[in-house]
Amino acid sequence: MFEIVFLGTSASAPSVARNLSASMVLYKHYRFLVDCGEGTQRQLLKSGLGFKRLKRILLTHGHLDHILGLGGLVSTFSRWETVESLEIYGGRWALDRVEDLICGVVLRGATPPIELEFIELSPGVVLEDQELLVSAFPVTHRGPGCFGFLFEEKSKRPFLAEEAERLGVPAGQERKRLVEGQAVTLADGTTVFPDQVLGPPRQGAKLAYVGDAARVDELVPYISGADGMVIEATYLQAEEELAEQYGHLTVAQAAALAREAGVRTLYLNHISRRYPAQEVLQEAEDVFAGTVVARDFDRFEIRRG
Ligand SMILES: [Zn+2]
Ligand SMILES: [Zn+2]
Repeated sequence: MFEIVFLGTSASAPSVARNLSASMVLYKHYRFLVDCGEGTQRQLLKSGLGFKRLKRILLTHGHLDHILGLGGLVSTFSRWETVESLEIYGGRWALDRVEDLICGVVLRGATPPIELEFIELSPGVVLEDQELLVSAFPVTHRGPGCFGFLFEEKSKRPFLAEEAERLGVPAGQERKRLVEGQAVTLADGTTVFPDQVLGPPRQGAKLAYVGDAARVDELVPYISGADGMVIEATYLQAEEELAEQYGHLTVAQAAALAREAGVRTLYLNHISRRYPAQEVLQEAEDVFAGTVVARDFDRFEIRRG
């Protein structure tokens, strides 16, 4: 299960109710900040998440409404917080701009007081461990090097405790070894194999985070079957031409993508100040019923459906 906390859901400029783009994805001890619009550090404090365990920032692209908060965040971390290192992932163009902001404007050439790593993304694995896979996929928006992210919980075979009981496997080390895929020999000399006590694999949760996008057709293979998808919804269909001109989606396009890709719940963000949220929701629901128009500080659990 993943958790997502929306920290900023406004497009381009903040509104009274919505801050600029940023979200936190949580999985076990991991925290991934996705985008960091201006004012994100205050949103983090207000949400109760704080700066704890915040060491990885994933950038969908380098537009200012998604990155300007990094200047303030790094400044705060450098002076008062106990954060020791920060990994910032993004496309080349986004990283160049972020490095100008942090190294040029904030630090002005001084040695960073915290360890800063700028990691250039390419499509594929960003981070992987035994349970979690985070990967990046290409997105067309405006400018080069725009990415979306997939957070996938790896499939797991459940441990059949009753079966283990029946076979006489004692609790403790033996069971742990079986879960890890090793056979164990019991005190009476019988050998128990993992297949005897592990059920069929159960798929884990899948969360897709797209960000700003100009087209949807190329995204289907990546987000297919996602339990949750976050994507921008900057324009209503009535302003389709403006959406196309600025490399953004309409609400109806985002909803049609969710329907086509078999997504379970669609979370719309990057909402324009021009429209009431109710109109955005209405347009989306006409196409895809499982839609949520995210608000700042909304928190959702993404589970395997
Ligand atoms: Zn944007
Ligand atoms: Zn953008």
